[in-house]
Amino acid sequence: MVADEAGEIQVFGTQWCGDFYRGEDVLVVGGGNSAGEEGLFLTRFARHVTIATRDPELTASKVVIEKVAERPDIDVLTNINTVELKGESHLETVVVEDSLTGERSELRPAGMFVFIGLTPNTEIVGELVELDGQGFLTTDAWLQTSLPGVFAAGDARSGSTKQAASAAGEGAAAAIAIRCYLGPLAGGMAEPQLDRGGMPAVMEV
Ligand SMILES: Cc1cc2nc3c(=O)[nH]c(=O)nc-3n(C[C@H](O)[C@H](O)[C@H](O)COP(=O)(O)OP(=O)(O)OC[C@H]3O[C@@H](n4cnc5c(N)ncnc54)[C@H](O)[C@@H]3O)c2cc1C
Repeated sequence: MVADEAGEIQVFGTQWCGDFYRGEDVLVVGGGNSAGEEGLFLTRFARHVTIATRDPELTASKVVIEKVAERPDIDVLTNINTVELKGESHLETVVVEDSLTGERSELRPAGMFVFIGLTPNTEIVGELVELDGQGFLTTDAWLQTSLPGVFAAGDARSGSTKQAASAAGEGAAAAIAIRCYLGPLAGGMAEPQLDRGGMPAVMEV
């Protein structure tokens, strides 16, 4: 997440739960859909929301960007790197740096919400199966990885929507694909036949 100048990770005062900040000013770090949606959600509780993104503009969907722009109680800071968190028992100051000018300033939100992306935990299989450039598992239409018989579902899968409902659905689809993969093997067929014009050779559900 965020390290101070000594390289130590500082996470105190960073939050997932907006209800703690009713009537307070809060900071959201990030600029994608998650950050934008969280900023909008936090307006239900917080008095004011600042979204700080290191990019020149929000990279969220058009609809999220428009909704954020409509909110008088949300400010968006662009080209801003979050470089240090300060405080004793709780978060007191967030040091941010303008990436264009190098100028540093301090924000004093009551709480900070971090939405700066995901790092997939795929090291354990990364030697065996193909990963995309960001470490996510690549799969075919049947959620099979580059190693036959190994399937992937959910957030760790390249191209997944990173949503709970999708992860559950992909898990169900992968289970069916695994059954199709194993069926012919159990029946003594030489090769599993998952991919025949996009349909599995065995489809008994
Ligand atoms: C703050 C936040 C808010 C969210 N809000 C929403 C929302 O409102 N709606 C929505 O649809 N989605 C939401 N999501 C996304 C949703 O949580 C994920 O899409 C979903 O949990 C993905 O499920 P998954 O099973 O792929 O991964 P995970 O839920 O991350 O589960 C992975 C599991 O694998 C385990 N694991 C990891 N490595 C290993 C290992 N080496 N060996 C064994 N086990 C291992 C982990 O411990 C974990 O239990 C939110 C996510 C976050 C972080």
